[in-house]
Formats: sequence, C-alpha cells, structure tokens
Amino acid sequence: MITHIKQITTESLEEAKKIIFSSGVVAIPTETVYGLGGNAFDDVAVKKIFEVKGRPNDNPLIAHIHSDYDLMKIIDYDPPYAKKLRDAFLPGPLTLVYPATNKVSSFVSCGLNTLAVRVPSHAGAQAFLRAVDVPIVAPSANISKHVSPTSAKHVFDDFNGKIPLILDGGNSIGGIESTVCDVTGEVPVILRPGLITKEMIESVCGACEVYAPTLKKGDKAKSPGMMYKHYSPRCKTYLFGSNEIDLAKEKVLEQKKNGADKVALLCEENVVKEFETLPVVLLSLGKSEAEMASNLYGLLRKAEEVADVLVAVEPKKQDGVMVGVMNRLKKACLSVDIGKDE
Ligand code: AMP
Ligand code: MG
Repeated sequence: MITHIKQITTESLEEAKKIIFSSGVVAIPTETVYGLGGNAFDDVAVKKIFEVKGRPNDNPLIAHIHSDYDLMKIIDYDPPYAKKLRDAFLPGPLTLVYPATNKVSSFVSCGLNTLAVRVPSHAGAQAFLRAVDVPIVAPSANISKHVSPTSAKHVFDDFNGKIPLILDGGNSIGGIESTVCDVTGEVPVILRPGLITKEMIESVCGACEVYAPTLKKGDKAKSPGMMYKHYSPRCKTYLFGSNEIDLAKEKVLEQKKNGADKVALLCEENVVKEFETLPVVLLSLGKSEAEMASNLYGLLRKAEEVADVLVAVEPKKQDGVMVGVMNRLKKACLSVDIGKDE
C-alpha cells in the first residue's frame, strides 16, 4: 500500500471520507498529537486501528467529534458539571469519559460501560470531522509503545505502507496527549494528566481528583492505557532527577566507556550548560512549560535517530502542565513494562 501525505483541501477531505466509509483508517492532525482515525460506528474500522497500531485490546479508544455534533447520540448521561467543563475548555485538549453503553462499536471501549469523547480544536481536525460527520476514534498515530507523533513525518515513519492517507496539518503544537477526565462520578477525576491541568478543572468545578493507583503486573486499571511502557524511543534510556546532574554526567561517561557510539542528553534549557563539555548530542526541551510539552516527543524521536543511549534529566518544575510532561517522560524511560505482553 502506498501511503500518501496530503495537505488538507476539499479534495483530500473527500478522499479521507471515502476511506473512512469503506472501513479504512486515515491519520489526522490534532492540536495534541496526530491520531489514527476510523469510524467509531464501524467494527471493522475499529478493529483495524488496534491491528495496525499493535495496540493491546484492553486499551480503549477516544471518540473525536466536531463542535456541533450531538453528544447525546453517543453517550447515556451528561452530568451538569461536564457541561461546565466543555464550556470552559472545548474545543481543546480535554477528553471527558461519560457513562455510555452500546452506542458506538463495542470494540471502542473494550468492555467498559463508559465512552471517552474529545472535541479537538485543530482547524484541520474540525474540517475532517465535519466532512465525515460521524464520531472518529483516533488513538495516537504511532506503533503501540513508540513515541507519539507530532508531525505528518512522524506518522509516516511508523506507518509507511500500512495506511493509505495522512492528512498533514503541520506540527501539533500542544505536544502531549489530551487530559483524560472521568465525569461519571460526583466529582471529575483525572485519569491521564495533560495540558488542561487539575487546577484548571478545579477552578471550574470546585473539585477535581487524580486517579493515581500503584499498579502491579496483572492489576486492572481504571484507564487501562496507564499500565503500559509507552512513548518510548528505540534506544536505551536513563532518567535522572533535576538534582542528580552529577549522576547524569557520570552515566554519560560510563556509557561512552562501555562503547556507546552516540549518547543524547535531554534536559531543560536552563541546565544545558552543565553538559556542554561532555561528548553528547544535546537536546534542549526549552524553557516554558508549553515549550517543553510541545518539544518532548519530537526530541525523543530525534534521540533514537541520532543516539544509541538517551540520558534524560527531569525539569525542575513539576506541577501544572509539567505533571503531564513528567508522566510521559517517566513512561518513556521506564525500564520495565507493567502491562501484559502484546
Ligand atoms: P490514546 O488515544 O493513545 O491517546 O490513548 C487514549 C487514552 O484514553 C488511554 O490512556 C485510554 O486508556 C484512555 N481511555 C479511552 N477510553 C477510556 C474510557 N472509556 N475510560 C477510561 N479511559 C479511557
Ligand atoms: Mg497513545
């Protein structure tokens, strides 16, 4: 199969629509990361997404809808505080998990009686969702466990020959996946941190909890995706705390001594100077929270391209948006996978 990358035009949207209504999948840009999209009502398309990604079949998908799509077509109950969250943050990088049964393909939620729904703000994503006018399930467009894609090229690198079309909407500026927030209970519960922070949700709803269980191999998580080693570059990885710069330096030298050809060093802009005299490829995350979120995945992909070892140093600031950035960085550098084998 030839994989085409096309800018978003009336013609490419028409082509995407044809693929979607023949049970195919199309990669689409969003403001967070690129997604691998298929019709949420179509069992064949949904199963294809799991197959193409190599995604574990207990990790449910998020349905993406355009701003005017009638949410009640796909969920059972809309809690009043969910409307407040939608009014405050949507369209944007916030996914809400609603009570829902049997309204979309049963493969979407992997047996859970909930459905995760998101309204992306990216103009290209909105144009595509309006063109098809069905909910589109769209997990990140990367091979399962690999680094999520923030450009059409990243998607091409993972799926060349496996999908027919990538709609190119430029770089995803948000850079990390949406905040996933459960709205099935009394108060919102964050299942996956992202650009919409706990503090932002609290400011709208008055309360917000964070689901943070300590999971062991074999445990069932509320949001199954959190069980897996994820977002990982295909090179050896080591992660150090922001106050462990000396240990990070030692690790670089040790790896070089042990024969590593190229070592990449990922850190925030403020500490780059600490590593300038070492034999490393320096990858600066940037200064602001937004920059660090936006740059993270591109740099993890760069690391695997140019180096055989990545030594990463955590940024100092770890609250707000950095909760999401740290969540991804830690999983990317996890040495063991607590999820089941794929
Ligand atoms: P991805 O689409 O690759 O960004 O992953 C989607 C994330 O949303 C994963 O962490 C899923 O576990 C989570 N998710 C999707 N649907 C649900 C749901 N119904 N309940 C809880 N978490 C969900
Ligand atoms: Mg993903």
